[in-house]
Amino acid sequence: MDEQRIREEIVEIATRCYDRGLLVAGDGNISARVAPNRVIATPSGVSKGWMKPEMMVVVDIEGNPLEPSDFSVSSEWPMHRVIYQARPDINAVVHAHPPYATGFAVAGLSLSKAILSEVVLTLGCVPLAAYGTPSTRELTDAIEPYLEFHDALLMANHGAVAFADTIEKAFNKLETLEHTCKISFIARSLGNENTIPDRAVEKLFEIRERNGAMRPEARTGQVCSISLISPISPIPDEGNEQVTLSRAELVELLMESARLFQR
Ligand SMILES: [Zn+2]
Repeated sequence: MDEQRIREEIVEIATRCYDRGLLVAGDGNISARVAPNRVIATPSGVSKGWMKPEMMVVVDIEGNPLEPSDFSVSSEWPMHRVIYQARPDINAVVHAHPPYATGFAVAGLSLSKAILSEVVLTLGCVPLAAYGTPSTRELTDAIEPYLEFHDALLMANHGAVAFADTIEKAFNKLETLEHTCKISFIARSLGNENTIPDRAVEKLFEIRERNGAMRPEARTGQVCSISLISPISPIPDEGNEQVTLSRAELVELLMESARLFQR
């Protein structure tokens, strides 16, 4: 693996993110896994529009530095770690605060409607993970359930993250997410957001599976407003408030329900 080339690629993608207004100031972070326990990542607190390849930090999967550096890894590293741990097929993560996608995340909206065939083919549906304080376990717990079957996520009142086997593909997914949120916003502003019929969406999924871009088992885990979605999907319908419970709280709730039922 040519690590110098990877550093340059991260800077190139970060500059594109900055130039396209997908992030500002010290926002966002990008990383690339170059070996099972070796990741090159953008430094903390530095504008992503003004970085140099030598400013990248090299860390292990836990975020510990592997090489001396004047910079430290982002406090949002746990978001990258949980993605790499959940998905061995993923080697790049791009996190930013794109205005339309983040607007959806602030409004409590996921990108769960099949509105554009190209997007169903390349990105699939993008769920909205509940709010979690950045850099804490709240955030990783909120995104973890969605990682297996999706390649991009909206994070409530925060931003968006996309991941793929290469940095460029991860960026493309983030850019597609932002562009689709913008189109959805315009359609909603015009008063009507028509969706692709269920049967047609199923055909698109079949094409995606044939192209090797989606595992067959991922189909029921996709968050689309189509009938083939498993009824036990953990994803709530768009617009519904998301609720996060600890195991203890869930047990207490079930026990309380059982007590009420017995009365
Ligand atoms: Zn962030």
